[in-house]
Amino acid sequence: MNISVTPLQYTFSDLEPCMSRQTVELHHTKHEQGYANKLNELYQGDLPLIEIVREFATRPEKKIYNNAGQLLNHHFFWQSLTPKYQKPQGQLLDAINDNFGSFDKMVASFIEQGTAHFGSGWVWLVASNGSLQIMTTTNADSPITTPNVEILLAIDIWEHAYYLDYTYQRGEFIKNTVEKLANWEYASQRLAATR
Ligand code: FE
Repeated sequence: MNISVTPLQYTFSDLEPCMSRQTVELHHTKHEQGYANKLNELYQGDLPLIEIVREFATRPEKKIYNNAGQLLNHHFFWQSLTPKYQKPQGQLLDAINDNFGSFDKMVASFIEQGTAHFGSGWVWLVASNGSLQIMTTTNADSPITTPNVEILLAIDIWEHAYYLDYTYQRGEFIKNTVEKLANWEYASQRLAATR
């Protein structure tokens, strides 16, 4: 079975100026495609991607897990972005206000945890047992291997995601992504599916 990269719902340049055409194109066609190529080389089974990640998460040999995990994480990441930004509304906004105090405080928590995270990884907005939380994971790890945690939004904080546009300023990248590119409609739909 050939496992492919996530089809983008926008063009490479649609996320400008917050995320440049060059960043999106390289990220999608080189980095993410690289994970897909490697996974297809290493894995010839027919499990769906999410099940490959779960199956290989606990094995000592990490190559299949790492490439499958990264591919799955990018699947969440690209869907977490939109060129047609709209602020959170309805139940999602209520949940943000209840759990963080305000949208701005949630953004601050995204920035704080994302910048404090050491090395490559991911910062996530998740729903867990009825509450919203920000969490980070390292390298190819994701919340999908943690019970009772549902992913609402994903931000890639590997340097390939921001270095061309923001150099060392990971916090600026996270702030712009959360405030100008985040697909809150996607997060809303995922939250509704958990209830
Ligand atoms: Fe990436």
